[in-house]
Formats: sequence, C-alpha cells, structure tokens
Amino acid sequence: MMHAPPRPSRSGPPVRVSFEFFPPKSEEMEKTLWEAVGRLAPLAPSFVSVTYGAGGSTRARTHATVARIVEETSLKPAAHLTCVGADRAEIDDVIRAYGHAGVRHIVALRGDPPAGADAAYQPHPDGYRSTAALVAGVKALGEFQVSVAAYPEKHPQSPNLLHDIDILKRKLDAGADRAITQFFFDNSAYLRFLDVVAAAGVTIPIVPGIVPVQNFKQTAGFAKRAGASVPRWLAERFEGLDDDATTRRLVAAAVCAEQVLDLIDRGVRDFHFYTMNRADLVFAICHLIGVRPQSPAPPASWAREASRQGGAPFPLPSTR
Ligand code: FAD
Repeated sequence: MMHAPPRPSRSGPPVRVSFEFFPPKSEEMEKTLWEAVGRLAPLAPSFVSVTYGAGGSTRARTHATVARIVEETSLKPAAHLTCVGADRAEIDDVIRAYGHAGVRHIVALRGDPPAGADAAYQPHPDGYRSTAALVAGVKALGEFQVSVAAYPEKHPQSPNLLHDIDILKRKLDAGADRAITQFFFDNSAYLRFLDVVAAAGVTIPIVPGIVPVQNFKQTAGFAKRAGASVPRWLAERFEGLDDDATTRRLVAAAVCAEQVLDLIDRGVRDFHFYTMNRADLVFAICHLIGVRPQSPAPPASWAREASRQGGAPFPLPSTR
C-alpha cells in the first residue's frame, strides 16, 4: 500500500483568517451582523472588512459600521471604498474621516458602473480614474494599509488574464499591500493564478477569498456576475437539497472544508472569508483548521443589546 505524505492541514503551522461583513440595512440585519461579529471576534482575525454598496450607496452605513467596530471592539477593521459616483474631493473626505475614526486599512476598489456590472465603466469626470490612482490617493492621505481585489479566473470585463495581472501590477506599484481574491471553487485556478502572478513579478500576498455556500442558487448567481466558475461537481453536491436545509448546511460545511484543507495542504496560510454576516459555517471551518477562540465569546444577550442600542453595548473581548 502507498504511504500518503503528511498533510500540513493536520500538523502544519497555524493559519490566519480575516472576515468580510456587509453593512446592515434594517434592524433585523443589524442584529444578525452583530451576532456574527460577536461570535467570530474571539477567533482573533487579522482584520475584518466591511463592504461599500454599489455606487457608494452604503457610504454612511459602511462608515457607521466600521466606526463602531473601532470604538467598541478590539478588531482591526478595513473599510471598502470604490471610485464610483464621487469626485476626488468627496472620496478624499471619506478617507480622512476613516483616518480620524482610527481606521488604518482600506480595501481600494474601482466598483461597478451604476448601470450594473455588465455596463462599460466610465470614471467620474473629477474622480479617481483607476483603482491604482485610488490606492495612491489613500497612501498619500495617511498611514493606511491598502488591500485590492484580484481575480483568479479574470475579471469579467477583462480581455484576458495577463491584462488583469497588468492592472494588478499597477495597483501594486501604487502601493497596495495585499490582494484579496474574488471567490472561486476551483483551487487549481487560484494556484495557477499565483504562479502566473509570481512570474509577472507581483510580490504582495494574494489572499484567497472563500465563500461558504450558504445558499447554492444565490451563490451561483453571484458567481455568474463575478466571473467565477461553478464546477459541475459543486452543483451536483447541492442537487436535490432545495427542501432539506439541514443536509444542505452539512454539505456546505463539507464542501468548504474540502476546499480550505486542500489549499492548506498546498501551502496557503491566509484566508479571507466572505461571511455574508453569518457566523456558523465560518466558525466551524475555522475550528477545523485550528483557528480557536483567543478570548471568551460575549454573552448571548450581546447582539440583542447591540442591535437595540444601535451598536455594541460594551467592548468585545480583546482579540489583539
Ligand atoms: P480594477 O482592478 O481596477 O479593474 C478590474 C478590471 O477592469 C481589470 O482587470 C480590467 O479588466 C478592467 N480595467 C481596469 N482598469 C482598466 C484600464 N485602465 N484599461 C482597461 N481595462 C481596465 N464592489 C463594490 O461595489 N463594493 C465593495 O465593497 C466591493 N468589494 C470587493 C471585494 C473584493 C475582495 C472583490 C474581489 C471585489 C469587490 N467588489 C466590490 C467588486 C468590484 O468593485 C468589481 O469587481 C469591479 O468591477 C472591479 O473593481 P476592481 O477594484 O477589481 O477594479
């Protein structure tokens, strides 16, 4: 019988995680968000990021969520920011406001055109012309870490992968510290991307964005818009489970575990989870890969109070 080599996912060095949240639109969503933050905070993530709605539609809500994370938790937040729909002075004001609020990490993005992701992108006449320009603008305004987006299966509007990598290099030359990838299900696409990117001289970490499949149909829709392929085997794993939420969740955990453990076995050490503001699946995957609470979780009443008072009622346990 052949002996399998030791698997780093079973005994290798520790891994680091970060989590993405989106700003809530309603009181109910606010409660869900703070519940998720409360559950995941003790895992001491490297950072937590908060998205910016298409066209800047959540500017105030993103700021409020990020500011609360700074004020009321020990987490290190990263604020997403796009170039869309605002002139340079307005965007600079947003960056300065983050600096004043104590935020030290911006995820700099181009964003999608207001007409939708399929429409041709037109920069604002007085705005940042490209993501690289926004990265340089953020760096010029303060001591911010800057993360940018990368696309292992290429951006949907990109003519080819090399063009995409050229755009990534421009963002790196402008000062980006790390890239976070669009989610993917085919690990070989990500690993190939790492090789091509390294051969092109890109030296910043390219952290894989991992989406646990909370809802297959919804995720498949996101994937289509994002240019991420949905392999046949993935669809097959969720087939016939539309009316079976329990099995769906178990399958989702197994699928995500398989993806993440395989990446660890291939040397990946950092993971960015798209939480969709839901903690359970992400928490389970973190447990599986050895990321354990560094401090006690807040009491169960925490999220209810946080939602009622419009924020966290008391500081979350320190995660630094
Ligand atoms: P860029 O990297 O600047 O460009 C993406 C592609 O556009 C390029 O690869 C290229 O094909 C084309 N392109 C760019 N510049 C040029 C040029 N000069 N000439 C020719 N072609 C060019 N969207 C939001 O609205 N809010 C968010 O919070 C948000 N968070 C995200 C987080 C991550 C990790 C990821 C992966 C995406 C996120 N997005 C978000 C989506 C993102 O805004 C869209 O994918 C957008 O279409 C591209 O943004 P970008 O920063 O990747 O653009």
